[in-house]
Amino acid sequence: MVRILCHECSREISHQEPACPECGAPTTEGPFERHYESGQLMTRGTYTNGVRHGLYEEYYESGQLKEKCYFETGNEHGPFESYYENGQLEGKYNFNNGDPRGDGFFEHYNERGELVAMGSYHASRKCGEWFAKGAGWSGRDKVTHYPPCPESQD
Ligand SMILES: [Zn+2]
Repeated sequence: MVRILCHECSREISHQEPACPECGAPTTEGPFERHYESGQLMTRGTYTNGVRHGLYEEYYESGQLKEKCYFETGNEHGPFESYYENGQLEGKYNFNNGDPRGDGFFEHYNERGELVAMGSYHASRKCGEWFAKGAGWSGRDKVTHYPPCPESQD
């Protein structure tokens, strides 16, 4: 009997079992959900050919959305959003094959909702104007200019 590791909880399971007896994650294909002991949804996604594929979501035990992203054959790919437990947006950007510096807009906030950093990426490099809160030599907000972003990009 072949023993494999569960994708979600790392428990050793038989590859012949359709799902992990510990957390319910499928051993090969299909949608999966994990729950907190309270029954509250913790994560939700889909496995295709043994790797995460498509929409993936994570929740706090309070029910607040924590993270929402997309997977492309096992790597994060496409729009990504994360939230603090108080519901405040933490970050919003794009993944490109597992790289969080995907083309497009990037924004990051602190728990109080203040903008911490904002800018754009192109080909994994910063482009255009970037804002960073309190990053100047005197602790003041800082704007840095990078080579312009391609016009076709938001
Ligand atoms: Zn498991």
